[in-house]
Amino acid sequence: MRLILLGPPGSGKGTQSVRLKEKLGISHISSGDLLRDAVKRETELGKQAKEFMEAGKLVQDELVLGMMRERLEADDCGSGFLLDGFPRTVAQARALGRMLEEDRIPLDHVMSLDVDDEEILSRIRGRREAEGRSDDNEETARERLAVYESETKPLLDFYREAGLLQEVDGIGTPDDIFDRIVACISATGGGEVDG
Ligand code: ADP
Repeated sequence: MRLILLGPPGSGKGTQSVRLKEKLGISHISSGDLLRDAVKRETELGKQAKEFMEAGKLVQDELVLGMMRERLEADDCGSGFLLDGFPRTVAQARALGRMLEEDRIPLDHVMSLDVDDEEILSRIRGRREAEGRSDDNEETARERLAVYESETKPLLDFYREAGLLQEVDGIGTPDDIFDRIVACISATGGGEVDG
């Protein structure tokens, strides 16, 4: 099973991804986690990505694509994967399409978690207090939302036109939202979900 979880920052992709990974037994690949790890280890990629991340801007496609290509080639992706935070631009989505085509592996599902801006800003405030993430201040949170609107939202149409998009209401308890996602996967087939 190969799926993509889309949604604005703070929409709960991370939380739902961890649950889906358990349920489906597939690898969870978070581009944000991979980038934060590169920054922490001070790799060449990390050094180049850092200032963009702290400003709430996107890291250049070229850097992200190199990182993702490498990650998707790892053995643990053979049985499927769940992408969280990637693709984030139409250019990234097209590049992902080409990568998967080379390996003849289609995507099974693209789900978007729908959450309005007000709710997102309040969640990000809560997360900042709880986790102290350096890109969670009010200004970068707004910047990340603006970047989502202009760069990532067009992906919804991109995948809708490809007949892959399923939209899930992202307001509610984590359990409720998880049930909705699982229901969507079951309704459209594309894999074993009762494991
Ligand atoms: P959130 O979902 O809260 O926005 P992420 O953890 O997904 O946060 O990403 C954190 C930051 O990492 C982003 O603001 C951006 O700078 C960078 N990033 C993550 N994924 C990508 C990507 N696919 N393309 C470009 N930049 C990315």
